[in-house]
Amino acid sequence: MNRINIAVDGFSSCGKSTLAKQLAAHLGYTYIDSGAMYRAVALFVLENGLVREGRLDREGLLDRLDEIDIRFQHDVLSGRSATYLNGRNVESSIRGMEVSRHVTLVSPVPEVRAKLVKLQQALGSERGVVMDGRDIGTVVFPDAEVKLYMTARPEVRAQRRYHELKAKGVEVDYASVLENINRRDEDDTTRAADPLIKAPEAVEIDNSDITPQEQFQRALDVVLDVLARVGQE
Ligand code: C5P
Repeated sequence: MNRINIAVDGFSSCGKSTLAKQLAAHLGYTYIDSGAMYRAVALFVLENGLVREGRLDREGLLDRLDEIDIRFQHDVLSGRSATYLNGRNVESSIRGMEVSRHVTLVSPVPEVRAKLVKLQQALGSERGVVMDGRDIGTVVFPDAEVKLYMTARPEVRAQRRYHELKAKGVEVDYASVLENINRRDEDDTTRAADPLIKAPEAVEIDNSDITPQEQFQRALDVVLDVLARVGQE
């Protein structure tokens, strides 16, 4: 059977990664979280004094961009794939609110995007990849055989994210989670470089009022349809 690439784009905390992981596991494909890469760059700038009073030292970041090495590797302790920044497992630090608050300082920078898109394209060059993000179907894999575009009401997304963070023991309040989601929606859809937009051929799934199982079934139907067609080519 021919392998395909699957792009899962959408707003923050929309359940993209849950769906992308389910699809990857079902198909025996590789799941790649492109947001983790932007988060790792945000962590780098925070740890290296490149954010002052909420402003990014853009020149400083560009000078050090080549120093940033991001990989996904198996972590023996958790038994899962994890994000590594310059050889260090940063999986838990990139998920906190500090990184969430600063990630849209680095994600609009064209040089950052160019570096990460190149990496993402290399990871998908042999197909068999499910990647989630904002620009996967439009920029990273414009030729992806399946493009899904996820949406959900901001309040529903904030509720889910809040419970997720609480379950991980992170101290947060609902209002600031909702505020962060609204801010990132605005930043991600209005930036000049590779903004979040729905590819015309993408299939939209609004998961505000459906269960993860229903969502998975809908997405799988789309994928199986395409696989059946690709298999005949
Ligand atoms: O997917 P996640 O919410 O972890 O992504 C964090 C941030 O990274 C997003 O708010 C967005 O600014 C940026 N991002 C991006 N392009 C992608 C994936 C994420 O700009 N493909």
